[in-house]
Amino acid sequence: MRKNIVAGNWKMNMEYEQGVSLFSEIVNMVKDEVIGKQEVVVCSPFIHLAAISKLSAGVSNVHIGAQNINDHESGAYTGEISAAQVKSTGAAYVILGHSERRAYYGETDELLATKVDVALKNGLKPIFCIGETKDERESGSYFDVIKTQLSKGLFHLDAAAFGNIVLAYEPVWAIGTGLTASPEQAQEVHAFIRQTLADQYGAEVADNTSILYGGSANPSNAQSLFSQPDIDGGLIGGASLKSRDFLQIINVFN
Ligand code: PGA
Repeated sequence: MRKNIVAGNWKMNMEYEQGVSLFSEIVNMVKDEVIGKQEVVVCSPFIHLAAISKLSAGVSNVHIGAQNINDHESGAYTGEISAAQVKSTGAAYVILGHSERRAYYGETDELLATKVDVALKNGLKPIFCIGETKDERESGSYFDVIKTQLSKGLFHLDAAAFGNIVLAYEPVWAIGTGLTASPEQAQEVHAFIRQTLADQYGAEVADNTSILYGGSANPSNAQSLFSQPDIDGGLIGGASLKSRDFLQIINVFN
């Protein structure tokens, strides 16, 4: 059975000490709560990874991840961070394909397919983001957009490798805008994604893949989103920067 996952994406927020203290609060709160089968992931800036990894040692349902890796394995790439370096901090996940990286850093489907391979080769699980822009939603082409992102970024993987992928449906028009997709809009796309996976890999792989929703998810709307049959959790930006809000979203699954 697929896991419920609540993942925080801190983006380019939190100086070193702030991030370490936010993460300690999260770990302590999660440890103290009776937590069900859900997994918690915090995707911090690179600078926090090694320190927060130590803080979560021994807490089996809290994992950490990065927000990017380079597509090369190592070498003369000044300023870049490799998958192996991220893995060596104790991180388990890496966000790939986030719309901010696609839009602001020109990350193409082809580059992302390479990053997916490098991540998997180094033992990191991609949280792979897909989602349409406002124009693509309004023109009705969003199913095609999502199918293309899936097939170009991921469908070169075989079924066994695909088992390490977590998906996040993040409509670009909902990210950081306060405009959340309605539970029905999100469910429609999540069901489409699961059907697309079933067509490609079969029903078992489709059933076992966690598909998260992202885009202005918060403590007030998380319950209605996560209760949809094909929504298995969330990728949370703004609301993951406040420990109480993040915990309330995590607790939707308790
Ligand atoms: P948001 O960001 O929750 O602040 O909209 C989500 C994301 O970009 O992952």
